[in-house]
Amino acid sequence: MNSESVRPVVAAQPRAATRSLVEEFKEGLDAPICLTWELTYACNLSCVHCLSSSGRRDPRELTTQECYDLIDEFQRMKVFYVNIGGGEPMLRTDFFDILEYAAAHDVGVKFSTNGTYIDEAAAARLASMDYLDIQISIDGADASVNDLIRGEGSYAAARRAMDNLAAAGFGAFKISVVATRHNIDQLDGFKAIADSYGAQLRLTRLRPSGRAVDSWDELHPTQEQQRQLYYWLLDRPDVLTGDSFFHLSALGDPLPGLNLCGAGRVVCLVDPVGDVYACPFVIHDQFLAGNIRDDGGFSHIWRNSDLFVSLREPESEGACTACEMYDACQGGCMASKFFVGLELTDPDPECVKGAAEPLLEKVGATGSLVPRPSVDRSRPGVPVPSPVRLRKRQRV
Ligand code: SF4
Ligand code: SF4
Repeated sequence: MNSESVRPVVAAQPRAATRSLVEEFKEGLDAPICLTWELTYACNLSCVHCLSSSGRRDPRELTTQECYDLIDEFQRMKVFYVNIGGGEPMLRTDFFDILEYAAAHDVGVKFSTNGTYIDEAAAARLASMDYLDIQISIDGADASVNDLIRGEGSYAAARRAMDNLAAAGFGAFKISVVATRHNIDQLDGFKAIADSYGAQLRLTRLRPSGRAVDSWDELHPTQEQQRQLYYWLLDRPDVLTGDSFFHLSALGDPLPGLNLCGAGRVVCLVDPVGDVYACPFVIHDQFLAGNIRDDGGFSHIWRNSDLFVSLREPESEGACTACEMYDACQGGCMASKFFVGLELTDPDPECVKGAAEPLLEKVGATGSLVPRPSVDRSRPGVPVPSPVRLRKRQRV
C-alpha cells in the first residue's frame, strides 16, 4: 500500500489525546487514507508479477459517469487522495476526463503507469494539471533486468516517459520499483536514476498475489537480500516504502512508514468493475467487501461491511505470540500469508527470523491446495515476458 500518501489532511483525528495514531488506524477511520482505484484491467504489458493479473479489459468496467459519481462520493467522504492504477490506466479513453474531474472535486490523484503512453503531448498535458502525482514503474535499473520482468522494450518506454515528464516541467514524479531477487543489487542504480530526474524513489514489496502467485518463489528476495535491503533503507529515509517492509523492522530499528497491516482499516481497493477489496494485494472472494453499485455505495461498504468491521477487531498474535519483535513486525502482511497457503495467524512468509520456513516447507511437501486470485485478466496466448521459472501451484 502507499502509506507515504498519508497526509495530515485526513479527516479522522485521534479520539483522545492519549491514543496513538496507530491505535486509531487499527480501529479504522471514517474514510480510507490509502485508497487504490484500479481503473481498468486492460494493459499493454504482461508483467510476470502483476498483482491484478491484468491484460484484458473487463466489459463490466465502470462507465465514465459511474467514475464521476464515485469521485463525488469520495469528495463527500473527504477522501482527499486516491492512488489510481490498473492495468494501465492510461488505456481508458476517458482517463484525462477522470483526472480532471477528480481535481475539480478536491480529490488528488497519484497514478501508476508503465509510461508507454506518456509521449510529449501527454506529458505537457499532465504537467498542466493540479493535484496530480505520477508514479512510473521499472523493475530493473537497466533493460536487461527490467525487461525480464516487465517485457521487452518496457524499460525504454518507461525512461522515455521520464524524459518527457522532465522536459515538460512536471516536477518531482515518482519512480516505483518492486524489490526482487533480481534487482536488490541495483538499489544504488535506482536511486541514481531517480536523483538524475529530481524524482523520488519508491520501493515496494513483492507480494505473492496476481501473477506473482506463480513467480513469487523465484522472485522474492533471499534472507540475505532482505538484510541488505533493510540496512540500505535505514540509511535512506527519503526513499518511500509505504507499509511495504514493516516485516523487516524485526531486524532492529523500525523503518519509517506505517508498521501495521492497514487492510480494511486505512487501506482498500476499488477494482475496475466496482468490487471493493480489503487491500490491492488480496483480490480474492474471501476479502471482497461489496460492490460500489450496491445500495449505499462505497461509503456503506467502507463503514459497515462485515469484512471491514471484522478486520478492525483486535488481531490475535497467533503463532508470533512468543516473538519479542512482534510490536515492530506485527506478524507481517496478511496478503503474503494468504496466497502462499499460510494461516493469517502464522508468521509472515518472509519472516526475518525464518519462523515461516518450516510452515512453507510443509505446504510444499503436502501439496496442500493454496488459494488463487479470484480474478485473472491475463491475455490468453500472451506469454509472460520472462525466463523466470514459474512454478504453477495447484490452487483452490
Ligand atoms: S495485506 Fe499486506 S499489502 Fe495489504 S494492507 Fe496488509 S500489510 Fe499491506
Ligand atoms: S515471528 Fe512473527 S512477529 Fe516475529 S519476526 Fe517473524 S513474523 Fe514478525
